[in-house]
Amino acid sequence: MIFTVAIDGPAAAGKGTIGRAVAERFGFAHLDTGLLYRAVGAKVADGADPVQAARGLAPEDLGRGDLRSAAAGQAASQVAAIPEVRQALVTFQREFARREGGAVLDGRDIGTVICPEAEVKLYVTASDEVRAHRRWLELREKDAEISEAAVLEDLRARDRRDSERAAAPLRPAEDALLLDTTELSISAAVQKAVEAIEERIGQGRA
Ligand code: C5P
Repeated sequence: MIFTVAIDGPAAAGKGTIGRAVAERFGFAHLDTGLLYRAVGAKVADGADPVQAARGLAPEDLGRGDLRSAAAGQAASQVAAIPEVRQALVTFQREFARREGGAVLDGRDIGTVICPEAEVKLYVTASDEVRAHRRWLELREKDAEISEAAVLEDLRARDRRDSERAAAPLRPAEDALLLDTTELSISAAVQKAVEAIEERIGQGRA
């Protein structure tokens, strides 16, 4: 079965958690596409050329231990604004999306650019404060000094850059189901996502 679940939205909205949960539930493969941009950003921080880094990205680059930091997120969003960097990563993501057995991809442009034909599109969002609080709880485990205000500022800067760039800006696909996790718990959001996927699978069988 070819079946793609596209999950887009701003930073720390819960896309990854929802993506992993639905992938496990349906036995689909999961790709966190932010990791691709984070890995390119990390190579650039090491002195590489952004476009060459994206073209030469290898599976082992995604296993680096430093990709989850706030600095890696900022580096990612800077290289992500370069059209040639995005272009270099398109084929891998498209093939992943249409692989046999079903796939879940989370990112910023999955439903709009990478896989507009996705069977289910979700746009996951939450208020800036709620997202910053969640990300702060995560980052604090590695960096006890990090302040919530700094995380909020970092998220806003990244969202602004991701939304205002000319190449594949962050925005919901017209046919995306909106999941606002400001009030909705992540488990309730997963449940809504599961229902949307089951309904679409059912339509395919009808
Ligand atoms: O999702 P994550 O926070 O790991 O993404 C890091 C950065 O990578 C984002 O801020 C965004 O600039 C970029 N990105 C993107 N398109 C995607 C996924 C991530 O531009 N599909």
